[in-house]
Amino acid sequence: MDFRDNPEEAAFRGEVRSVVKEHFPNGAPPADMYEADERIQNTGWRQALVERGWIAPHWPKEYGGGGMSPGEQFIFNEELAEARVPSPGGSGVSMIGPIIIMYGNEEQKQEHLGRITSGEAVWCQGYSEPGSGSDLASLQTRAIRDGDDYVINGQKIWTSGGHRANWMFMLARTDPDAPKHRGISMFLMDMKTPGVTVRPLVNMANVHHFNEVFFDNVRVPATNLVGEENRGWYIGATLLDFERSNIASSIGLRHTVNDLIAFAREAQEQGSPVANVTDTVKAELAERAIEADVCKLISYRIISMQKRGQVPNYEASMNKMFRSETSQRTARTGTKLIGMYSNLYRGEKLAPLQGRLAYQYLATVPATIAAGTSEIQRNIIATRGLGLPRG
Ligand SMILES: Cc1cc2nc3c(=O)[nH]c(=O)nc-3n(C[C@H](O)[C@H](O)[C@H](O)COP(=O)(O)OP(=O)(O)OC[C@H]3O[C@@H](n4cnc5c(N)ncnc54)[C@H](O)[C@@H]3O)c2cc1C
Repeated sequence: MDFRDNPEEAAFRGEVRSVVKEHFPNGAPPADMYEADERIQNTGWRQALVERGWIAPHWPKEYGGGGMSPGEQFIFNEELAEARVPSPGGSGVSMIGPIIIMYGNEEQKQEHLGRITSGEAVWCQGYSEPGSGSDLASLQTRAIRDGDDYVINGQKIWTSGGHRANWMFMLARTDPDAPKHRGISMFLMDMKTPGVTVRPLVNMANVHHFNEVFFDNVRVPATNLVGEENRGWYIGATLLDFERSNIASSIGLRHTVNDLIAFAREAQEQGSPVANVTDTVKAELAERAIEADVCKLISYRIISMQKRGQVPNYEASMNKMFRSETSQRTARTGTKLIGMYSNLYRGEKLAPLQGRLAYQYLATVPATIAAGTSEIQRNIIATRGLGLPRG
């Protein structure tokens, strides 16, 4: 692993840094997890990214993307995260855009790609169902071909941002008699289609982040099928050539620990009763700082593999599991530092650190469930990383 930039990388890093500085001379305030990022509104940031093709760093240039290599994407994400600046994103840019580029037909490319990069189309992911999460291939939502349409019936759940999205990419069963992975197709669905009902699910942090989505005889034009019928599982699982290190989250973790350390230091200097800067808490803060740095090193390991043309496998699971579990431990350490005051929520006048800790304590709970649970990641590390037999 080489931590140094080569001359081209150093030049690119300098360019990203200067664009960030121009738009956010004083950095940006910390973002709320799981909420719409309003910070890019009215700052010209989105436009600056669009102009450079940086709104979708990993897309090819011909589709309005940055055409960046994984190494350049890493630098781009690292610099934005270090400056605490919001990165372009959403599942349109990160997930369905690349799928349409690879598997979509010309009409789908024309209709959707430009609207994703312009921000006009907001997408949600309709994969999980009440009975299908880790074992996604068992999904039951049905799509039956009827003339020029497919008629869809069933239900999705935990649909992040489903209430803000105007499009959903979803998986439905098109052949119930085929082996479970081989009877699934992927569709693009306009959320305004008659028969689609979105019901809110408010999480334990009191945030409306995800939803249940019901389909009652929803007619989706057959032209909205992505790729071939019954090949949806393989399309959804495609590994695309983009950066998978999650360097931004690793850096975000270190920022949170740094904020806690700065808070503890200041409170101690001022003799503030708000912080319990005990030896135990100090030792925990040191552990969290080390863990955040370990996360960063795992990110470096992953990008180093990608630069060599290797595909990270169990390494990505190590990253996801360790990072999400560290985020929970960090929130717990923070609440110990602030003691009873950590119960004060966002908006409360006396809440230390703007009440971010009470919120983070609750909001990090789902981190070990979303995008593959810790148990599933451990299974992958055990079988593919350690070569242990399947249980
Ligand atoms: C914040 C958040 C956002 C989400 N956003 C979306 C979204 O936008 N779109 C979407 O489609 N889905 C979304 N999900 C759903 C997410 O993908 C699922 O929650 C996840 O895959 C787990 O599935 P499940 O909830 O059905 O749990 P289950 O799979 O039922 O698991 C229940 C428990 O059993 C354990 N378990 C299951 N299988 C095994 C096994 N083989 N070995 C060991 N243990 C096992 C799990 O680890 C877990 O502890 C989101 C979830 C969260 C928390």
